[in-house]
Amino acid sequence: MQETEGVIKYQLHHKPAIANPEWNIATINSWRTLLYQLELIGQQAHRYQGYGYGNISQRTQGEQFIISGTQTGGIAELLAENYCLVEAVELSQNTLYSTGPCKPSSEALSHASVYALDKGIQCVIHAHSPEIWAATQELQLACTSADVAYGTPDMAYAIAQLFNSGQLQQQAIFTLLGHEDGVITFGQSFPQAALMMINTLASARQL
Ligand SMILES: [Zn+2]
Repeated sequence: MQETEGVIKYQLHHKPAIANPEWNIATINSWRTLLYQLELIGQQAHRYQGYGYGNISQRTQGEQFIISGTQTGGIAELLAENYCLVEAVELSQNTLYSTGPCKPSSEALSHASVYALDKGIQCVIHAHSPEIWAATQELQLACTSADVAYGTPDMAYAIAQLFNSGQLQQQAIFTLLGHEDGVITFGQSFPQAALMMINTLASARQL
């Protein structure tokens, strides 16, 4: 796998703006800090050529969502300045419109494609876990195939396919076999999405 972590592959139209106080990042940020402490989000010299990994988002209204910024994986506790609002996405055009004090995560397109599946989905977590990823088969996790790279329209279509196949109705988690250690969970709340991640990590460690 020779892809570079953290490189934005979509067309980004970003409008710089100060952090919007209405974003109210307390909830998303507390969960993001916990995931950082578990090294499901982070940045370490020996992983992914030292690039930051993992990101988190929360739907605000309609198709819009706030998401942690690109290359913020190494920051222990994010500030409002480290989040960005995704205002609109054109999946078929591989184009994303955002505003805020930083640019969105390179995996914002994958987050957008999860929100597009179901209006009830309020939160998306993308973590990197070698243990969950390696246990994909044994735990019978849904997955996108090894030839689908992150941050691409192909990934968006693969996610939609998984959803339409019914697999994600059983378990709100899937691994990205074309993206080393990549895992996505989602839910109607952060406890749902985060506990799905942590439960699965515990299961993987029991194998
Ligand atoms: Zn990733």
